[in-house]
Amino acid sequence: MQGLMMDGALTITSVLEHAERIHGHQEIVSVTAESPRHRYTYRECFARARRLASVLAGLGIGPGDRVATLAWNDYRHMEVYYGVACSGAICHTINPRLFAEQLAWIVNHAEDRVLVIDPMFLPLVAKLRPQLPTLEQVIVLCSEAAMPAADGLELLCYETLLAGADEDFAWPALDERAAASLCYTSGTTGHPKGVLYSHRAMVLISWACGLPDAMNLSAREVVLPVVPMFHVNAWSIPYSALMVGAKLVMPGPKMGDGETLANLMDEEAVTVALGVPTVWQGLLEFLEQAGRRLKTLKRTVVGGSACPLSMMEQFEQRHGVWTHHAWGMTELSPLGTYNTPPPDYDSLPREARDRLRASQGQPVYGVEMKIVGPDGQALPWDGKAFGALKVRGPWVASSYYRMEGESAAHDAEGWFDTGDVATIDPRGYMTITDRTKDVIKSGGEWISSIELENIAVSHPAVSRAAVIGVAHPKWDERPLLLVVPAAGAQPSAEEILAAFEGKVARWMIPDAVEFIEDMPLTATGKISKLTLRERFAEYRLEG
Ligand code: ADP
Repeated sequence: MQGLMMDGALTITSVLEHAERIHGHQEIVSVTAESPRHRYTYRECFARARRLASVLAGLGIGPGDRVATLAWNDYRHMEVYYGVACSGAICHTINPRLFAEQLAWIVNHAEDRVLVIDPMFLPLVAKLRPQLPTLEQVIVLCSEAAMPAADGLELLCYETLLAGADEDFAWPALDERAAASLCYTSGTTGHPKGVLYSHRAMVLISWACGLPDAMNLSAREVVLPVVPMFHVNAWSIPYSALMVGAKLVMPGPKMGDGETLANLMDEEAVTVALGVPTVWQGLLEFLEQAGRRLKTLKRTVVGGSACPLSMMEQFEQRHGVWTHHAWGMTELSPLGTYNTPPPDYDSLPREARDRLRASQGQPVYGVEMKIVGPDGQALPWDGKAFGALKVRGPWVASSYYRMEGESAAHDAEGWFDTGDVATIDPRGYMTITDRTKDVIKSGGEWISSIELENIAVSHPAVSRAAVIGVAHPKWDERPLLLVVPAAGAQPSAEEILAAFEGKVARWMIPDAVEFIEDMPLTATGKISKLTLRERFAEYRLEG
């Protein structure tokens, strides 16, 4: 027997309509290249999104067409998110930090018809324009006065287009399974792969993100996403924050600027901020140097790569800020697990608390997970056994865009292999030990580079640390620790290696330490182990 309930479509349009009606007065504050502090309401955002939808319809953009963006987090990018997806087209966010060839490959693969850009990306687009045959229009996100020199390109001005457009655009009824947005994985090996998000998946994950044991979002919170809107929908914040009516604060092009972030937080009374560890490290370093304490921030959500316990402690002890560790992937829209302490956390011994806190957390409702051994058999959730982490759920990619016919992204039982290696404890707290390709295999035993890096960065003389495997005549591979010293510090290798004593088994301690000036980062702000492995390919350890 079927239930007798209505069948409301889970679309981004439904989020927009709810947010507009119930929370229309709420604020969106942005830093942009033109304005140090732009502010307006959700209602104004959606009115402009309607104007944009009229503009796109006028340009012949229809359901399923791809509209790409190369833009920072600000109010105009929000308008594009909603204006494109709610009109039935697909908002294809592109990471401007990708190599130019990758970027061209992605635009051509997605067959983008319109590209919407922040003015500062014009030189990049001008260079690539001849290689982008599917592109019909380039719209620049600024006013007529701020339009950059066209460089021989045909450009449209966003504000001029909006000023002449109809604000009464009627949102079409959409199928909740229709595609809403598109994001390519950065593809460290092979070509990038497109993950095509549906309206339904976006609504479900946004709902899950807002829950109390996840990001705990509400109209009483002020949210600062320092995670870019060009990567995995800024961890769903553009939808999840608006769904509950939170005030949204957007850093624009100033994402990596500690001082701007600290000022935004204090002056806009930000309570929750989200970002990758490298962003928070910049902020924490700035705050220490400036002798400042954050005034209103209560929580940070950290993911994208492992957050060291030392960073969590620094946030807590210096600023009274609690850090939630989260794990996800482009293919997971991106949330997989979220770390909120269990009810008995305070009564646990210190070591158990630390272990639990450093873990990537429990799966949120909607995500199932398991770890499997080399034979594909499921491993126990005992916190010790480690294996390939697999997940499934309604916001996990089932195939990649335009590869549907070639291969599913999952196995016969519907499990997606994350490419991560993990342990899971009896309560479902999952700890990533490594990416499969970063695991160090020493004499048949596996060494977790993440565990070693977390110990290294807890040393006060270490600013950044990475551990890679290098060839060894006897053990096949041994860990090499690469360190960027803290400002003004000149630590010795022995001093840093001493920090490992008693924290990991002797044979896991890195064989050597090399000091480097900068840590190479990927386009998504993670340490680029690929670059480090290339740089140290000839490195030889003593036998
Ligand atoms: P890319 O690295 O290409 O930007 P993703 O953003 O999808 O792609 O990266 C997903 C990967 O990032 C995961 O598979 C995992 O290896 C890593 N990751 C994400 N969050 C964490 C975390 N909290 N701890 C450790 N690794 C993480």
